[in-house]
Amino acid sequence: MRVETMPLVTNKILAHYDANARILPWRSPPGGTRPDPYHVWLSEVMLQQTTVAAVKAYFATFTQRWPTCADLAHAEDADVMAAWAGLGYYARARNLLACARQVTQGLDGQFPETEDGLRALPGIGPYTAAAISAIAFGRRAVVVDGNVERVIARLFAVKTALPAAKPEIYGWMDSLTPQDRAGDFAQAMMDLGATICTPKRPLCHLCPVAEDCWGRSEAEAYPVKAAKLPKPERLGRVWWIEVEGHVALIRRPAKGLLGGMRALPSCDWAGDDAPPPFAGDWQPLGAVTHVFTHFRLTLQILALRLPKQPTFVFDVEWWPIDRLHEAGLPTLFTKAAMVACQG
Ligand code: SF4
Repeated sequence: MRVETMPLVTNKILAHYDANARILPWRSPPGGTRPDPYHVWLSEVMLQQTTVAAVKAYFATFTQRWPTCADLAHAEDADVMAAWAGLGYYARARNLLACARQVTQGLDGQFPETEDGLRALPGIGPYTAAAISAIAFGRRAVVVDGNVERVIARLFAVKTALPAAKPEIYGWMDSLTPQDRAGDFAQAMMDLGATICTPKRPLCHLCPVAEDCWGRSEAEAYPVKAAKLPKPERLGRVWWIEVEGHVALIRRPAKGLLGGMRALPSCDWAGDDAPPPFAGDWQPLGAVTHVFTHFRLTLQILALRLPKQPTFVFDVEWWPIDRLHEAGLPTLFTKAAMVACQG
């Protein structure tokens, strides 16, 4: 693609967006008033590592319960963690609260407009800062998420493998990003990646820039990816302790994986031979597997059903089993609870 054709490509993508923009709860229509920065920030944090389909319901719950950044800032930590349950990557929820409080208390409730200002806030990295600055404030910023990465890698037939290709991809996106409507352009590229330039079987015949695309003839070969190493395996045990329709739950330590979340008691995931917390007629119920970013975990479930509450060396909450869906358990422990309830 020649340098002089870049603005034409940009305009084609924007024109396609004007006619076909996805309607999403956190968005404003193309060319309309800018969306609320609180909504843009909340949706962008939720969308990190999570699909649009999964985020919609959580976004609705959060904005109904905490309609403004100040409302969220004044929420109880436990309520926000419970409302986040199931979205995964729980450090995001802790950063969400820290960020809402910093904006409310330190910045008079106003999100900064610049990428630098936004990046100084908890949980906002380069991508999220660029997205908020462009979409909520109309500033020129180069926004590259996974969808944009794929479209650019194909459009310019980027031969370098990811992640080494990131600076090159950013450079191409920079060349295409217009001075005006950078937010619309970012969303146009995201939509193109989500609906037409899909990972498998892209719909090139519907693509507004098909005739400009260098990678079209072998689209699925892009983006080139470095070979993945298998994830390390970890093993552990989880305890289902049931007394008269209630199950023992703990609160995980604030720092670390699934920090601050309610959970079933479990060992430290360093092996599947950890002794139960006390002696009893523990019954094996099977196992659950969950894949985290850096490892794959398999937990053996051991269950004990007792006539009265035992004495614990750690704090527990006795939670009604028929209301377990309200406990805000992370997916790993929800899976274990489902096995235990069937066992
Ligand atoms: Fe993607 Fe095909 Fe469009 Fe190229 S022509 S950007 S591969 S959808």
